[in-house]
Amino acid sequence: MTYQSFLIKYAEIGTKGKNRYLFEDALIHQIKNALKKVEGKFLASKESGRIYVQAQSKYDYEEVIEALQKVFGIAWICPMLQVEDKDYEHLKKTVAEYIDEVYEDKNFTFKVESRRADKEYPIHSEQINRDLGEVILQTFPQTRVNVREPDVLLRVEIRKLVNIYSLMIPGPGGMPVGTNGKAMLLLSGGIDSPVAGYMIAKRGVKIDAVYFHAPPYTSERAKQKVIDLAKQVSRYSGPIPLHIVNFTDIQLYIYEKCPHEELTIIMRRYMMRIAEQIARSTDGLALITGESIGQVASQTVQSLASTNEVCNMPVFRPLIGFDKQEIVDISQKIGTFETSIQPYEDCCTIFVAKHPVIKPNLERIRRSEESLKEKIEELVQAAVETAEMVWCD
Ligand code: ATP
Ligand code: MG
Repeated sequence: MTYQSFLIKYAEIGTKGKNRYLFEDALIHQIKNALKKVEGKFLASKESGRIYVQAQSKYDYEEVIEALQKVFGIAWICPMLQVEDKDYEHLKKTVAEYIDEVYEDKNFTFKVESRRADKEYPIHSEQINRDLGEVILQTFPQTRVNVREPDVLLRVEIRKLVNIYSLMIPGPGGMPVGTNGKAMLLLSGGIDSPVAGYMIAKRGVKIDAVYFHAPPYTSERAKQKVIDLAKQVSRYSGPIPLHIVNFTDIQLYIYEKCPHEELTIIMRRYMMRIAEQIARSTDGLALITGESIGQVASQTVQSLASTNEVCNMPVFRPLIGFDKQEIVDISQKIGTFETSIQPYEDCCTIFVAKHPVIKPNLERIRRSEESLKEKIEELVQAAVETAEMVWCD
């Protein structure tokens, strides 16, 4: 069967009253965005509590399903047959044709569930269920009715048009991006931060990202890798403006002035400060990192407390309680893993001390930062002002 339309079902939670319109509009916006990258012409629209995608040209079914399965907020994707002709005899014929085309093997149990949203329609849903069930049984004698646990649940909705569907393909769940503000993702080339961005976008948060690079200590390839990762996350989150900050002078300055075992922590504190500053100028309300307790020296609880101290915005750390393998599993599922494991240097690893502090003492870190007083403000401002923006879509 070549489906011309899809019924998009979303979870009802959080969609009461006024929120519902915002939710639906954001969902339609994201669906259109996702389908822009698919060959063909599509219409996404809503009709009282229903969202439809209609193909207006030839298209590739697998490609459309794959794109829709990345749109947060979609609970189910139902390929359907949509017919204009509401004539009852025509409907019976259409339903039989539908079953014939969709199910090659007719050895199944079924149930018909019809809904009559168009109250003008002369036949009640109970009667429609019985009549259509009868048609299916007569046309395909191998089929049987099972109202409790049918193999096939055929839904027939009488609305402006008639919707006929029985297949339900799971969507990614979550909330449509754009329904929950905006946050700034600290995106490195590692495995964790792309996953963290994906998880926060799944809750409806729009994502901006910031990457700190340190040329010539980190290469163009390392930067390109982060751009590639941002593009991969954007297939779920929608376009990501990626701010690329030149961190070299700040790193060299810290290297010159501070105890080497504290380098990583102090660098991370400056990353957070700069990320927050850029977030403020782009209406971001929170920061996102890929940190997880205990994964590396800079992620002990003491280290996290120390990097957190410099932020006034909330910092979202969706991976905080995850084991590495759990994070790897998600990165494989969302397709960022292969890029993340490419072996390009990260600015954090180049200046890293042999024996970094594992339990940084806040007082001591603050004191060390005192020795940066002379130039650091100026360097931070220069880094913010010279940041380059790459649109990742
Ligand atoms: P990831 O796998 O995300 O790189 P990681 O295990 O390497 O994380 P760290 O290097 O301690 O951990 O970094 C912790 C978090 O800090 C990262 O998840 C990321 O959010 C942020 N971060 C680290 N380095 C950078 C960078 N160069 N640019 C932007 N953000 C960074
Ligand atoms: Mg890293």
